[in-house]
Amino acid sequence: MSLLSVDEALAQLLADARTVPDIEEIPTLEATNRVLAVAQRSAMDVPPMDNSAMDGYAVRIADGKKLKITQKIMAGAVGQPLAPGTAARIFTGAPIPHGADAVVMQEHTSIEGDFVVLKSSPRKGEWIRWVGSDIKKGGEILPAGKRLLPQDTGLAASVGIKTLPVFRKVRLGLFFTGDELVMPGEPLAPGRIYNSNRFTLRGLAEVFGCETRDYGIVPDSLEATRDVLRRAAAECDVVVTSGGVSVGDADYVKPAVEAEGRLLMWRIAMKPGRPLAFGSIKNSFFIGLPGNPVSSFVTFLIFVRPFLLKTQGMNDVAPKYIAARADFDWLEPDSRREFLRVKWNASGGLDLYPTQDSAVLTSTAWADGLVDNPAKQAIRKGDSVRFLPYSELYW
Ligand code: AMP
Ligand code: MG
Repeated sequence: MSLLSVDEALAQLLADARTVPDIEEIPTLEATNRVLAVAQRSAMDVPPMDNSAMDGYAVRIADGKKLKITQKIMAGAVGQPLAPGTAARIFTGAPIPHGADAVVMQEHTSIEGDFVVLKSSPRKGEWIRWVGSDIKKGGEILPAGKRLLPQDTGLAASVGIKTLPVFRKVRLGLFFTGDELVMPGEPLAPGRIYNSNRFTLRGLAEVFGCETRDYGIVPDSLEATRDVLRRAAAECDVVVTSGGVSVGDADYVKPAVEAEGRLLMWRIAMKPGRPLAFGSIKNSFFIGLPGNPVSSFVTFLIFVRPFLLKTQGMNDVAPKYIAARADFDWLEPDSRREFLRVKWNASGGLDLYPTQDSAVLTSTAWADGLVDNPAKQAIRKGDSVRFLPYSELYW
């Protein structure tokens, strides 16, 4: 078993990841949170015509400051060309009449009978939104490989795009090894524990937009593990498991993957979460996480997350770090890179969960994210640390 750094393991994982081959054309209205497969261009100028940015009067500056009001142009209407010496009453979004070169906001005018009097001298183009000033016809509005946010689908719709090509959702298979596992609702016999990883990993699969197939609890036996592995690999793009990747007597994941496909067993220089298995079975990839609940959560975020995002077709899979102030001391750092559970405090710094023991799942629920601390690096109160907030990691 080789000892690997987090970055080496990640580079190997990502080198193998390949984007799902299928593209679906779906309604733009349903495309939020999907990953765009083909860059989108606008087939029109936005705005599509010169229009008013204000309620006021469209004028020709050269005609002076007292102008006869001869027409009224509402949004959605089209006015007449501006005759010499006249102004058009105009409303926000309404097309600028031919001949006008400025809009004077109504607050800067007064009315005398049929005439408008301008109280200020308009600048050329004032309060006019020019055709194509936001988006030029033919210009790219959304790149391929972008996860579509609500504002992206709105942008697509603003240029009339009714459907969007997106990658089909990654099919993610999950199963959980361990004879000790029972589900909440079942009696907890002596020696048993609840299968909390099922909830954490299912939830993460949902966060990352996967189509999840959950094969449930698999007993510690080679035959059972091989059997479910074969089924999951046939049905999924990626299979993720928890437990059974140490080198204990009851750890059958390793021999099962080796019997069905290819396997790399890694000991990773990180805390929590040392063992990680990576392999492939026919056309499907396999990532085996440690059973320890904190370890499986952290290794999912650090390794499975970018692997899934790349498989899903995203270009940008590296997590975004925030430089933040540690309001704690961490004076006995590990010889491995550590992911510490921390939480924002009221003064904008980070507090540390009092125990960083990897068996304490409470720490992950209490925290707002992880401090990524290099090996052997002590942290002193006031130091700047690399913070990975959950809000950045959740996509
Ligand atoms: P393993 O990696 O199978 O050796 O498991 C390591 C530790 O994690 C053991 O204490 C297991 O009981 C625990 N564990 C394994 N799977 C789960 C699970 N699905 N939910 C909660 N704890 C688990
Ligand atoms: Mg086990």
